[in-house]
Amino acid sequence: MSAVLQSPSEIHHFIGGRSVVATSGRASDVFNPATGQVVGRVHLASAQDVNTAIGAAKAAFPAWAETAPLRRARILFKFKELLERNHDALAAAITREHGKVLSDARGEVTRGIEVVEFACGIPHLLMGKHSDNIGGGIDNWNLRQPLGVVAGITPFNFPIMVPMWMYPVALSCGNTFVLKPSERDPTPSLMVADLLREAGLPEGVFNVVQGDKVAVDALLAHPDVAAVSFVGSTPIAQYIYTEGAKHGKRVQALGGAKNHLVVMPDANLDQAVDALVGAAYGSAGERCMAISVAVAVGDVADELVRRLSVLAKTLVIGDGMEPSSEMGPLVTAAHREKVEGYIAQGEQEGAKLVVDGRTHRVRAGSPGFYTGASLFDHVTAGMKIYREEIFGPVLSVVRVPDLAAAVNLINQHEFANGAACFTSDGNAARTFSRLVQAGMVGINVPIPVPMAWHSFGGWKRSLFGDHHSYGEEGIRFYTRYKSIMQRWPDSIGKGAEFSMPVAK
Ligand code: NAD
Repeated sequence: MSAVLQSPSEIHHFIGGRSVVATSGRASDVFNPATGQVVGRVHLASAQDVNTAIGAAKAAFPAWAETAPLRRARILFKFKELLERNHDALAAAITREHGKVLSDARGEVTRGIEVVEFACGIPHLLMGKHSDNIGGGIDNWNLRQPLGVVAGITPFNFPIMVPMWMYPVALSCGNTFVLKPSERDPTPSLMVADLLREAGLPEGVFNVVQGDKVAVDALLAHPDVAAVSFVGSTPIAQYIYTEGAKHGKRVQALGGAKNHLVVMPDANLDQAVDALVGAAYGSAGERCMAISVAVAVGDVADELVRRLSVLAKTLVIGDGMEPSSEMGPLVTAAHREKVEGYIAQGEQEGAKLVVDGRTHRVRAGSPGFYTGASLFDHVTAGMKIYREEIFGPVLSVVRVPDLAAAVNLINQHEFANGAACFTSDGNAARTFSRLVQAGMVGINVPIPVPMAWHSFGGWKRSLFGDHHSYGEEGIRFYTRYKSIMQRWPDSIGKGAEFSMPVAK
């Protein structure tokens, strides 16, 4: 394992196949959320640094685009092997800068590897369709060709997996890539850059620029960036979408969420409660597919809240590196303040605070950014804690009379990433899946993150753009469609034709 895998305390860029020192003079602290200590300084890109990365990617593009898809796939096969060999180190780097528990971080790496496995099938995935002799000795077929330099801008909550929703697919299609990871956990991206180099990826095909809004704006404005993939909060997703489009770029911008899990009266309550606790408090609620609203249908509510409160109070909260920990800290002290601000807000709005995570003993006894699991009952649609994404371990229970009211509640929300329904009734499940307005639906599955060969994405204000991430949607996003017609002299008639050509 090379030096960059040691989680450097001075964190710079990776451009043109090597580590490159930032030029802006601006830097930001990176914390270990479990201890509250600064473990690194990430040096933030200037516009000039971003231009250098785009220049490297542009220079690498022609040769990479001409590399046979099977040869690109072979590099990805090697990369997959290296990811597996470094699985533990990658997971530990995630936990160190993000705070999530190690088993969860390992799962994140695995879900990322699955996209690499998908992208290894690129020779097949790029196959076009051919129509022989559409008329008059003419054949018609289609190609999918790479776009050029594409950029990825990613959030803090999955520093390995979310970038892997993007670059394995983009690279396999023949594009070159500039990644701008979150400045809160920047090290894992440098580790994968190093592994891609070791796998044989040519210099400049994959680049990492560390940075903030300055770097993002430079990527959005640069004429040599053909497309931008973004994952993060909704206001920034909307900004990326409009700014990117203004500069003539193709954009997919995945935003925030407020995911509901409906518990029907006929659901297996033990399973529903386990699912809710894992999906609401796993990764301290810092998941775009976290369940933040439990919709209790009919008379299931009292017993549901009673059981949830027992489990919420007994969650094992601690350092993510401790094997016994079920939930780690939040990513920063500022984020904890924001989450706890929502808890105070919920009380003021009149929701019933059944479990108050602010009083958990790790909150007071550790310098880490801990808060406990919180549970609200009698939350209503008008409350701010219901309308806004909290992105922390706070679960709200909303009571409704029937399935129609549950679906109506969900469909009124501005976010539409995932939605789940726990039931033992096939008709209810079918009705829910067909009527609910969300990009990803789970039936007795709380967090229905699609597999790598399907595609990930929400509806409404959870996704700006047309294509979901990875899978076939990813292939479409990272390629341009071209239709070709050909004929040869034997089938070309004499004389100019002035009428609209039709099949002969
Ligand atoms: P964020 O929007 O603050 O940051 C995302 C990226 O945008 C980062 O790289 C950041 O540096 C950059 N950025 C931040 N402010 C910016 C600005 N003003 N101008 C330009 N760029 C800016 O998101 P976050 O806090 O890192 O991540 C959490 C959010 O991401 C949550 O809202 C979560 O729901 C969302 N998320 C969504 C999905 C999805 O698939 N829909 C997946 C993961 C996370």
